[in-house]
Order: sequence, then C-alpha cells, then structure tokens
Amino acid sequence: MSENINRPEWVPENGGNEFTTTVMKGVATNANSSIAPNLSFIKKKNLTVKDYVDGILSKNITILSKAITLIESNSQTHIELAQQVLQKILPHSGKSVRIGISGPPGAGKSTSIEALGYYLCRQGLKVAVLAIDPSSTLTKGSILGDKTRMELLTREENAYIRPSPSAGTLGGVARKTRETILACEAAGYEVILIETVGVGQSEITVRSMVDFFLLVLIPGSGDELQGIKKGVVEISDMIAINKADGDNIQYANRTKSAYQQAIGMLQSATDGWKTLVKTFSALEHKGIADIWTDINTFIDLTKQNGAFEERRQSQVLHWVQSMLEEELKNRFYNNPTILELKPKIDSDVLQGEITPTNAVSLLLSKYFGV
Ligand code: GDP
Repeated sequence: MSENINRPEWVPENGGNEFTTTVMKGVATNANSSIAPNLSFIKKKNLTVKDYVDGILSKNITILSKAITLIESNSQTHIELAQQVLQKILPHSGKSVRIGISGPPGAGKSTSIEALGYYLCRQGLKVAVLAIDPSSTLTKGSILGDKTRMELLTREENAYIRPSPSAGTLGGVARKTRETILACEAAGYEVILIETVGVGQSEITVRSMVDFFLLVLIPGSGDELQGIKKGVVEISDMIAINKADGDNIQYANRTKSAYQQAIGMLQSATDGWKTLVKTFSALEHKGIADIWTDINTFIDLTKQNGAFEERRQSQVLHWVQSMLEEELKNRFYNNPTILELKPKIDSDVLQGEITPTNAVSLLLSKYFGV
C-alpha cells in the first residue's frame, strides 16, 4: 500500500503525520455556487476561526471537510483551533436525529445506510454518514474507506460521507466523532448516520452518542452465531433483519419472530419504547420507508416523554466525565516525577517492601502534592 493512500486530500499548512485520515472526496456542491457568498477565503492557506465558522454555517462542504480534518488532528495547535471553532458553532448544533447502525460484518450495514440515506435525501433531508471503526488503526479504515461503496449516495447532493478517523484509541476516535457530529449539525445536516462494526466496545461507544440505535442482522442464526453479544441487543431500539428478499423472506420472518420472543424478556433500551423487530431488504430498498416512520415515531414519543432530552444530557455529561478521566490518567502517567518514581515503587512492591495500597498512596500524594 502506498504512503499516500492514507493521507488526506487536504491537510492544514504544516500539517504533520498526525493527519492520517483518509478523506473521501465529497461533492463540493456549494463551493462555487452563487448562493454561497463571500467564500473566497476557501482558497486561503491558513483559515481563521471566523473562516471556519462562516464556512460551516453557510453549509460549505469544503470548509466543513477542512474543519473535520482539524478536529481529527492530534496536534495541540489544531486541537486548540478546533475547540475555538466548535465553541462558536455549538449554539447551531444539536438539531439533528442521530442514528447509530451496527451489526456483524456482512449483515448489510453499508447497503442499509446507502438505502436509508438515499431515501432520506430524496425526502429532501440532508444526511451525514460517519463511522467508528475500532479496527481502522490496523486496517486503515475498513468501513467507509472504500470509495467504491455507497456509490448511489455519494452522488446525492444532500449527502456527506466521512470515513472513520483512523488513528488513536477508541476514546480518541469517539471524541473526534462527537465533535464531527456537532460540525455536521451546524452545517445543516438533519440526520446523522453513524456506522460501526459489531466488535469490541464500539457499539457501546456509538450508543453513547446517538438518539436511536439500529441493529442490522441477517435471517437465520441466533445472535451468538451472528457474533453479536447479548448486550448489543439490549442497547438496540430496533432490530432489523436485512436480506428479506427472494427465497429468504420466510426465513427472515421466522428470525423476526424468534427475536420478538427473545426481546420480550429483556429490558428495553429507551424509556417508554418497546424495541421493535422488523424485516427489510436494503438491496431492494424495501422496508426502508417503514424504518424511517418508526424512527420518527420513536423521536416524537421520546421528545414527549422527556427521554430524548434526558439521554442527550446524560450523554454530554458522560462525555465530559470520560474525557476528564482520560486526561487525568494521561497527565498522571506523563508527569516527570511519576515517570521517575514508578519503576522504583513497582520494584519495591515486587520485593515485598511496600504494600500495593501504600504504593498507590505514595504515587498519588507525590502527584497531587498532598
Ligand atoms: P456490511 O459489512 O454489514 O457493511 O455489509 P454490506 O453492506 O457490505 O453487504 C454485505 C453483502 O450483503 C454484500 O454483498 C451486499 O450486496 C449483500 N446485501 C446487503 N443487503 C442485502 C439485501 O438486502 N439483500 C441481499 N440479498 N443481499 C444484501
């Protein structure tokens, strides 16, 4: 694989190797349009905070992409710049419907996102497609990374597709995706679809940033056999059995009944909402409109009973807490005193000269100076 494959098509001036994301070339519909006034700054080398904010708020895709690249950067300067931009656009964010889509590899997540995204675009809605792929650090972006996928959707003016940030820990990737959601919302995207593969902790991470969680499965085998953990069924607002087409229809219906029975014994993911089980065919675009109707019913209901706002609030507070914990950990382990002292204390513990509890007290008191 050549070096260039994982380089973005745009990097900020002096952008270093922290820009490891592959950026899919979007359809820059507004860049030269007469409805986008005063955007001559697009070609500027160093955009100011105001340039980014104005570009995002005037729905300019080129600037939005540059802002997301900034959000994805690990350089301290870029992080600070991105924060200033985000602070300014924050009042314009939050108005979308955020939907997480998960399922085992091959279940048809990409095909489903394309079918749903296409349907929504045709309804006149603006749709952003993002991804969280915990494997992408190794595979360099296996989901949404392949430009040949979602061909139908990439041609839609109302769609914006952005692959998973490929560098860093799941926590880091999650931070970047959460901030990318805010930027997309400020740029007028009304539905945000976030794809994740059904492995590791990624579903829980996506659940913590979406309003509605859709689990895509295939007809037949039980969830153990589909490689889906029971916990994932429990966080889902809808289980959609895909590939209900051709000879598979009856099979899909039987799978639906089995899941309907199984979830009867589980607590639902969202207050006041009974997890739905549906069949559909992403390939034939059948059942997509019904899924969207159900999502709307869900949004209306949760907005009425308060669960929607409650979830958004607990999500943002949880986000603060997890970042705080990560930051504290980083600062502690990178502190020069701790770096010097820790090997000595570890060795004392191993020699039996100090108890583990006392070792922890000693390190913490050195760090906090108390
Ligand atoms: P992902 O790995 O979950 O993103 O799955 P993909 O969307 O890449 O789909 C995996 C395979 O299943 C592809 O060959 C698709 O063409 C096929 N597929 C997806 N949706 C359907 C469907 O509704 N019906 C049928 N028969 N095949 C489908």
